[in-house]
Parts: sequence; C-alpha cells; structure tokens
Amino acid sequence: MSTKTIIAPDEMRNISRLWRKSGESIAFVPTMGALHEGHLALISEAKKQAQRVVVSIFVNPTQFGPNEDFANYPRMLKEDKAKLDLIGIDALFVPNASDMYPAGYQTFVVNDELSTLLCGAFRPGHFKGVLTVVLKLFHLVEPDLALFGKKDYQQWFILQKMARDLCLSLEVKGCPTVREADGLAKSSRNLRLSPEERQKAPALFAAMAKTKELYQGGERNRDRLIQCFHQNLRHAEAFRIEYVALHDGDTLAPCESLITNRPVLLFAAYLGSVRLIDNLELVE
Ligand code: AMP
Repeated sequence: MSTKTIIAPDEMRNISRLWRKSGESIAFVPTMGALHEGHLALISEAKKQAQRVVVSIFVNPTQFGPNEDFANYPRMLKEDKAKLDLIGIDALFVPNASDMYPAGYQTFVVNDELSTLLCGAFRPGHFKGVLTVVLKLFHLVEPDLALFGKKDYQQWFILQKMARDLCLSLEVKGCPTVREADGLAKSSRNLRLSPEERQKAPALFAAMAKTKELYQGGERNRDRLIQCFHQNLRHAEAFRIEYVALHDGDTLAPCESLITNRPVLLFAAYLGSVRLIDNLELVE
C-alpha cells in the first residue's frame, strides 16, 4: 500500500484532528530518515500502542552545529517510503525546512541543565534544536504517545523532561536499542562508514559489554569501570573518543566515584569523520 505523504503542516494537523474527533489514538515516531530496523522497531511498537501511526522524516537544520554533518546526512526518501509502504503506517509527514523555520524564525525551546551534560558539552545548541523541532512536530501531529530510541539516551531523557516541564499531554516512551548481529547499534550514520571502519565499529559495543561484565561481577568503582572500557577497546587508535561516562539512569546525573545507583555507560566517539554514540544500562 502506498503511504500517504503529507508536506503541509496545516494538512498534518487537520488529518490528526479528524482522527482525534472520531476517537482514534495517535502514536508518533519522529525521525531524520535513512530508516533502518531501529526506526522500524519504534514503528512496530507504535502500531501496537495506538490506532493511528504517524512517522515524520525531517533532517532538522537547527540541531546541527556549523561544522557538523547536516549536508552529508543520508537522505533517501524514496527507499524510506518503500520501507514504510511495507510496514504500513497512516501518514508520513515530511515538512519543508522553509515551513518549519520561515524567514525571521526566532523562538526556541531550551533545557538549562541536562543539555549541558554528555553530548551537550560537545554539541552546543544541539538539544535546543532537537527540543524545538520535536515540540513543533508535537503541536502539528498532536499525538497521544511519541516513541524514541534509548540509543539516544540523553535525547530521550531530555524530551521526557520537556514533556513534564511544559505540561504536554502526551506520553514520551523510550524503546530498546536495536543492534547489528555484531553489536553495533543501528544508525543512519553507519552508512557513512568505510568497509574498514564498519569492521572496527563493533569494538565499541564489545568494550561496553566487558564493562558491564565487570559491573555485574561486583565492581562499583566508577573510574575502574571506565578504565575497563578503554582497556578493552580494540582498534583504539582508530577512534577519537569524545567522552566515556557513567551516569545515573534515573536522573542522568554523573555517577559518584562509588556507584550506588542504576548506572548507564555512555560514549561518543569519532570513527573517521563519523560520530557514533551508544550506551548500555549496566543493571538488567
Ligand atoms: P534519527 O532518525 O536518528 O533521528 O532517529 C529517530 C528515532 O529513532 C530516535 O528516537 C532514535 O533514538 C531512534 N533510533 C535510532 N537508532 C536506533 C536504534 N538502533 N534502536 C532504537 N531506536 C533507534
């Protein structure tokens, strides 16, 4: 079945309101496209949770820094539509940047604290762009439920916080990370890895898995756990690590030197020109 594609923001809102009027619930999966099984898992979950499912594809310019990969971000709408045709959704929303950010645009959503941690420390303005676009999309789709991947743990966390802080009447749900057979988290950016880089990339997951093993064996010293990641990272010379850190899975605060909470191990690392992020909850 050919997926209904909507470009105009007003049309998106009108359709959504028609569904709501007839009592149907709406689940929403925002994406930047180049769809892979991680996205498709969110969509499958959305289909279980609501009567109508809306997916958006929008490579959001305001969440990319001036030296980041906005221009090179993979764009493959035709292939994405074919995947959505197979899985079956109710609407694909593909707004234009000029409709989302018309000339003279000047209003943004800012998180003051969580957005300074982890990726936020290296990508100034990134979460401001994410929060702004997601809030705008929420206003246009008016979903009951929005689904995000825990692959982007900090993003999911900050979006949940926005929903609570701004009294949004929808649920923000986090879904498990979908991985390749070798452990590498599925990501649209993996498409930009060379074959040699692709072969080295799973070392990151392997190092996280080793650290989890050490934690589960009883190690609670934060620095020794992080050292374990570094010591077990194969092809270490190929990666430029931005951060490896342990944060509390319930508050996102950095772990103390003796870990007593529910820790999540998170990293960001460049492999060539591709920035990869991933995380692992150390408690099952
Ligand atoms: P993106 O297109 O990268 O902006 O991602 C859109 C949504 O898919 C976000 O909520 C991501 O967290 C989620 N996502 C991306 N990769 C994965 C993955 N490997 N497993 C689960 N969710 C993912």
